[in-house]
Amino acid sequence: MSQQGSLFDRIGVKRVVNGVGPATRLGGLSLHPEVQRAMTEATDSPVRMDDLEQRAGAHLAALLGVEAAYVTSGAAAALSLGTAAALVNGEIYRSDLLPSRIGTRKKVVVLAAQRDPYDRAIEAVGGEIVTVGYPSSTHLGEVKTALDDDVAAVLYRPGRPGNHPSLEEIAGLANARHIPVIVDGALFAPPLSQLHEWFDSGASLVAMSGGKQFRGPQASGILCGKSTLIQLVSLMHQDMDEREQTWGRGDKGERLQTPPRHGVGRAMKVGREQIAGLLVAVERYLADPGAEEAAGIAELDQLRDMLQLRKVPHTWHETSVLGVPILDIEVHAGSDYVDEVLYALTQREIPIYLEESEAWRGMLMVHPMALRPGDARLIAEALEEVLGLADSNGLQAPNMEGGVK
Ligand SMILES: *Cc1c(COP(=O)(O)O)cnc(C)c1O
Repeated sequence: MSQQGSLFDRIGVKRVVNGVGPATRLGGLSLHPEVQRAMTEATDSPVRMDDLEQRAGAHLAALLGVEAAYVTSGAAAALSLGTAAALVNGEIYRSDLLPSRIGTRKKVVVLAAQRDPYDRAIEAVGGEIVTVGYPSSTHLGEVKTALDDDVAAVLYRPGRPGNHPSLEEIAGLANARHIPVIVDGALFAPPLSQLHEWFDSGASLVAMSGGKQFRGPQASGILCGKSTLIQLVSLMHQDMDEREQTWGRGDKGERLQTPPRHGVGRAMKVGREQIAGLLVAVERYLADPGAEEAAGIAELDQLRDMLQLRKVPHTWHETSVLGVPILDIEVHAGSDYVDEVLYALTQREIPIYLEESEAWRGMLMVHPMALRPGDARLIAEALEEVLGLADSNGLQAPNMEGGVK
């Protein structure tokens, strides 16, 4: 077998065009060289991981203007770890009972409107999801009734429309009962102003993704908020292959307590490379928020011009959910047809993936954050071919044989 070319070439995995953005299934975003350099440096420097996590957390907390912070392997892991901290309820030895033997006080209350497949992160550590209200409305009284003695935490997921109580109202009820409120901030923070607004409204913890707006390593994230909860997280995240005799020495060398065993977070470990990369990515983001989106947005702009020339109907929207523009491409309504188009795009020599959350209404979207130079041309040519072939046949599905160039 040839040893030439990149590793991905050697093992036969295809590069794709990512018009979806920071999607985990497509490997997320490319890293800035400064972020890559920090990761390379970290790899040559063995350290105590609890020491690194603690100092990285303190550095991040200062940068973000929050009480405490902890680097996780993603926002989903941050939700798991935050939930685990809430489940142990201040008694770290309860962590040995997670996820399946915790018994009481394991409910996590979520508004029906705010449910999401990422709720699996709550269940993975032993949280039992309890849904309140309806997709279009929730009464504050319903939340109040739901907050009984068996509730360990409230999960709040912003950005869902409807008649629902505010975070402030929900957190007011929860905090009066010493129930932490965990915010899934993966889509809406940064900006830091948003993060601070959640904490001002009574959030105890916020989970953020390292691989989205911060443009850090794909397998990184941040859990931030109350230091008492973050301390519990740190005890459930490292491995505990330590002797009782030497673990947990205080400053004067005296024994503090017996160690818990491996926590549920151990399966979500973070490498020092991810921690280093994330810190530099956050520093870079804060120095000039959003500046690194310029290249992808310019590529998207080129795509708009190319679609204009090819008379492919499209609409430019100045902002999308991650604060960047997005391009809507109108395909004929009828979901079978849209699905054929999407399929044909993925069957090309360089497969193309577009955002398909609105495909049910005949809309494909191109998101700029992961676009690379030259991607606009690849997408425009592919669409011309795939849509053109179909149009010449009326509303027939595109020609699959012609899909592979
Ligand atoms: C992306 C996302 C997550 C998961 O983030 P990762 O950093 O990939 O783990 C969780 N919740 C929401 C709402 C998200 O959009």
